[in-house]
Amino acid sequence: MVSTFPNPSSVDLSRVRLSIRSLQPQLVEWRRRLHQKPELGFQEKLTAQFVSQKLQEWGIEHQTGIAQTGIVATIRGNNSTEKVLAIRADMDALPIQELNEVPYCSQHDGVMHACGHDGHTAIALGTAYYLQQNRDTFGGTVKIIFQPAEEGPGGAKPMIEAGVLKNPDVDAIIGLHLWNNLPLGTIGVRAGALMAAVELFRCTVLGKGGHGAMPHQTIDSIVVAAQIINALQTIVARNVNPIDSAVVTVGELHAGTAENVIADTAWMRGTVRYFNPELKGLFHQRVEQIIAGICQSHGARYDLDYWSLYPPVINDATIAELVRSVAQEVVETPVGVVPECQTMGGEDMSYFLQEVPGCYFFLGSANPEKGLAYPHHHPRFDFDETVLPMGVEMFVRCVEKFCN
Ligand SMILES: [Zn+2]
Ligand SMILES: [Zn+2]
Repeated sequence: MVSTFPNPSSVDLSRVRLSIRSLQPQLVEWRRRLHQKPELGFQEKLTAQFVSQKLQEWGIEHQTGIAQTGIVATIRGNNSTEKVLAIRADMDALPIQELNEVPYCSQHDGVMHACGHDGHTAIALGTAYYLQQNRDTFGGTVKIIFQPAEEGPGGAKPMIEAGVLKNPDVDAIIGLHLWNNLPLGTIGVRAGALMAAVELFRCTVLGKGGHGAMPHQTIDSIVVAAQIINALQTIVARNVNPIDSAVVTVGELHAGTAENVIADTAWMRGTVRYFNPELKGLFHQRVEQIIAGICQSHGARYDLDYWSLYPPVINDATIAELVRSVAQEVVETPVGVVPECQTMGGEDMSYFLQEVPGCYFFLGSANPEKGLAYPHHHPRFDFDETVLPMGVEMFVRCVEKFCN
């Protein structure tokens, strides 16, 4: 813990930056400690304990056990304004065996912070610490939301249902994702759709098995499944406005046991992604129509489960502009702010953004020269830790701009 933390008396930007950069060793220490003890969604007990213990140490009012393991910290500024800004960080890890050979490697078998949420939690802690020490530099209230289970089944929705956006009512929300698709020193910000809606499906084609040499006595589930998989691609090609982007992927297909046996059943799983919220419902309907039609034409039956995981992440234009202007100051070069940063990946930050205006943005964290450029969810994923104070600086300056 830093005991001699400089307290800037005015909003002197270079002093703010220097103060925040002096937090680098603590940010790295917290991040590495979290990295060593990764926990899956809704099991973030050690993580939540660590966060709560730090907040307690710094005298920050907070509530624990929200939606099982979530935490909300509340920091009130000394300037006179009523604004309430929320900052969201996710805390969960993934069921991946880490392959990095680093001193801070995961100590939990088969669980790894392979998406950077350890960094998000450290950045949110650094922001809480800085704001608590510098309450004269902003007004209103800042709520810092430490959310469980972003990787699924989703912690944002139960936290909202538990009332984290109420009392005091949140006016706007911001959040960031460390992003290895962007180089260190860049920030991806855009108004409108940033990340896609995620829908999932599972289908079993029920045919009639038999001898591989006597197909006329069977209903070949593999032939039926093959036609379904090809036809599903026509939804994007022929049912979606070509101006909109969308993806249908069948990622899993299992059928058959031998080369001379016609498979009784074929089983597949897939995902659908799109940005335009008006497309909700279309894919479910078309996937079912295609599967039903093809199965019927072959005399096969089917079982389909189709559900929506997360809606699209849609940024509010005004808050996105505030974040973009802050990013411009933080990166110091015009090329450092990247509006072309949309991805078909999904995020349950979307639920917060459905409730209040806000902006989710990407903080470039890849550094290929240091070998830190593996994609998210890879067993060798890691990021350049010099990005951590940049994250704190983004949040702190957004608070100063929004709450003054
Ligand atoms: Zn992830
Ligand atoms: Zn993530």
